Amino acid sequence: MFLCVDPDGDVVLKLEYPNDPFAPECSSASTRTQKPDSNALAKGDSSLNTSSSQDTAESEEADTTELVTFRVSSRHLILASPVFKSALTGGWKEGVKTEGELQINSQGWDTTALSIFLNAIHCQYKRVPRSLELEMLAKVAVIVDYYAAHQAIEILGPTWINGLRSSLPTTTCHNRTIALWICVSWVFGDESAFGAATKVAIHHGRSNMTNFSLPIPSRVIEQINRDRKLQVNRIFNGLSGLQRDLLYNRKGCGVECRTMQIGALTRLLSSTSLLNHSLEKDYQALSVAQLLQKVRAAVCPTWYGMFVQEEKKQDPYTYGYGQQPKKEPPTHKPHECSTPGNAFHVAISSIAQEVNGVWVGLNVKNY
Ligand SMILES: [Zn+2]
Repeated sequence: MFLCVDPDGDVVLKLEYPNDPFAPECSSASTRTQKPDSNALAKGDSSLNTSSSQDTAESEEADTTELVTFRVSSRHLILASPVFKSALTGGWKEGVKTEGELQINSQGWDTTALSIFLNAIHCQYKRVPRSLELEMLAKVAVIVDYYAAHQAIEILGPTWINGLRSSLPTTTCHNRTIALWICVSWVFGDESAFGAATKVAIHHGRSNMTNFSLPIPSRVIEQINRDRKLQVNRIFNGLSGLQRDLLYNRKGCGVECRTMQIGALTRLLSSTSLLNHSLEKDYQALSVAQLLQKVRAAVCPTWYGMFVQEEKKQDPYTYGYGQQPKKEPPTHKPHECSTPGNAFHVAISSIAQEVNGVWVGLNVKNY
């Protein structure tokens, strides 16, 4: 396939193994789309273009027979990207001269995404869509990031992201979709989308985040997972503290009251898979939001105790009715802790409230 970006262009950009699996669920599915870190790039590492036999075997799904070539202009490439500049002027193996013509090699990119990128940096805006699906935008973003062409695309990035902003996930969502959003907002420096996407990752991710081979800095992924773990541990610590307080008679107002609360708490811990949790372990059962929802919904069953009569000692065997005994005049009432702060729902609300107050995403300026 031949695509002409600039008919007078002096460079042929070869795309081998086009359309590699993109952002695979399993990180070993493709290694070609991984961007080398900035240090490696500065040193001229061109791992993206170095195909090993293992790479080839791993990308069996990709069309390995097709070769896509683009006619492009060295002036535009050099202006837009320091990576192209090095390739064309610095003797990188990405840029080679064959039969008097400059040639740049690349591998694995999505053909459409590379075409959008090349047309954009050649200012061929009529051929550049004004709106892109998230998947395609992420594919373009990865190319922009790899070739360090952020400045050349900085006008288009916000337009593309704005077109998708209404579909930014705000609740539980697949980790891969969240990672695509983090990737595009990171590459195009969109503070609002990055904050929103990382917030969703921390609060609505049902497991630890991975980078799906996207160019998301590892410190962003680590911070997301740290914040998620911190919030799960806050809830776990709160519930464990309540458990200890009930066992050591610091909460509740009597044996019956404490026993009922411990029962309700144990059921809550079990239903959230926190019963055998430890602070060191990564919690992979529920999102922080789902966990909070379960904590807030937890109730201690209503039970009925005898009216307190000062002159008459209570008979312990009359406690613990599940419903009001049918006696006239009534002899029992729903249990209320003598100290309101000792009630189960008060302790539970305060644990949920503590975590609820720290729902924030990350700031792109810090990374
Ligand atoms: Zn009580």
